[in-house]
Amino acid sequence: MAVDNRKADASLESLHRIFTVPEAPESTLGLIEQKISQNLNEFLRTHIAASEKPLAEIEKDFSSADIPESPTFVSDHTQFLLNKLVAQSVHTSAPSFIGHMTSALPYFLMPLSKIMIGLNQNLVKIETSKAFTPLERQVLGMIHNLIFNEDESFYQQWMHSANHSLGAFCSGGTIANITALWVARNNVLKPDGEFRGVAQEGLFRAMKHYGYDDLAVLVSERGHYSLKKAADVLGIGRDCVIPVKTDDNNRVRLDELRATLNSLKARNIKPFAIVGVAGTTETGNIDPLDQLADIAVEHDCHFHVDAAWGGATLMSNKYRPLLKGIERADSVTIDAHKQLYVPMGAGMVIFKNPASVAAIEHHAEYILRKGSKDLGSHTLEGSRSGMAMLLFASMNIISRPGYEMLINNSIEKAKYFAELIKQDPDFELITEPELCLLTYRYVPAETQKALQVANTGDRLVLLEALNDLTKFIQKRQRESGKSFVSRTRLTPEKWGHKITTVFRVVLANPLTTNDILKSVLEEQKELAQESLHSLPQIRQLTARILRQ
Ligand SMILES: *Cc1c(COP(=O)(O)O)cnc(C)c1O
Repeated sequence: MAVDNRKADASLESLHRIFTVPEAPESTLGLIEQKISQNLNEFLRTHIAASEKPLAEIEKDFSSADIPESPTFVSDHTQFLLNKLVAQSVHTSAPSFIGHMTSALPYFLMPLSKIMIGLNQNLVKIETSKAFTPLERQVLGMIHNLIFNEDESFYQQWMHSANHSLGAFCSGGTIANITALWVARNNVLKPDGEFRGVAQEGLFRAMKHYGYDDLAVLVSERGHYSLKKAADVLGIGRDCVIPVKTDDNNRVRLDELRATLNSLKARNIKPFAIVGVAGTTETGNIDPLDQLADIAVEHDCHFHVDAAWGGATLMSNKYRPLLKGIERADSVTIDAHKQLYVPMGAGMVIFKNPASVAAIEHHAEYILRKGSKDLGSHTLEGSRSGMAMLLFASMNIISRPGYEMLINNSIEKAKYFAELIKQDPDFELITEPELCLLTYRYVPAETQKALQVANTGDRLVLLEALNDLTKFIQKRQRESGKSFVSRTRLTPEKWGHKITTVFRVVLANPLTTNDILKSVLEEQKELAQESLHSLPQIRQLTARILRQ
């Protein structure tokens, strides 16, 4: 770029301009806007650098802590953002980016987001949101209906009721889970006689009043880490999220759950919430929700279902039965920014009982007055954007059957990919896809044979080397920038519960084709050959084991 001597200056006149005069169509930002609306994917593809730059290098571009003493022209700064930020960001909507829960977005959300930002409504109170408040309440009603399927009169009675709420819209699954456990905690330590409740008097006095030695939340060992954050901020402590063992399919074991509940009670520890996971983050499996509901009733626990990722499956009449029992939950977490294809920052917690939120209600004089319809009186967050509008628009524009097609296609694509993996003798499927998520790894065919006959010591060495190889391939693939799968560590029964590093694939992007899936496997095979350490070690050991 040619250096020019133009210099922006901080005058009231130029400040007035940035609030009143739009960027010209042929300015840098104007051109970007045009390109984004004409072909977003092309824009991202051409502006995001293909190969990875080390993070330490990128940090150098963001190293000054000084707030500029002189302004920069919009175009110049936009150019900086393009070169240094956009270029080094991640192409999450690329059809070959199949490693995370973030995927492509429908086009209509771009201009609608602009309207949302332009309006800049604050959903904390009616005064700054007006129609956005009924809209958000309707969205919560629609998702409540999706989960609990109450009749029309239920929604007419409660959806817009000032002293009730069917849930809370928030920034994501983490806040949603915190809110759910907040309600559960306040209910188990509710006001009682002289005691004015944990919300008012705090945990110390609450425990003294109720005479418990401790509290506990139970969830399978595949539970999301946000539950631990929740326990931490709620003063219960991370140790009190008790992980319950899972079966071969990563579902919580009911016998283990019952045993844990009984042993806690015997120690005067109050288990107050059971969390079922509907789509674990690592493997996509769903806990037996119906049986969990029974156990929760039996033990007088709040039953929360963390369906942050998998909840969207309810849109599919075909696969909805996988989540049977979710309609018996006291609360459910769903992220719209995962499988409902809404941009980041759209989470929800939904309560079966419209009066549940009374446990966390908060009033203030100047806003959130009693009897007002202000959403802020029962949300953890204060100021909040009109994000619900984007989910509202998506549900109207895509419709339930449209979402069903997206969900069904994703699940069927995952099944197809699982078939590809199974048919290829050099790969091992680790977890079957129940939803559109699966895990697998590269294991040369000969090594698979060797693992069957190896003695314990050799097998351990092989498994360790395979973990290194998986890590190597995953990193290389990410760095080369053509495609991306993520990796996680599991403890499959098949390998004696040894820690096993696996590729993790989430197939939610509707633009991912079967050919892309084939080429992901091809690339992984090629990258494996570049391993100068693990693969030779694996080959040698394999050969020795098979000779014996
Ligand atoms: C993603 C996820 C969360 C956390 O949601 P955020 O939106 O990232 O805060 C919680 N639970 C499960 C099961 C998830 O998949």
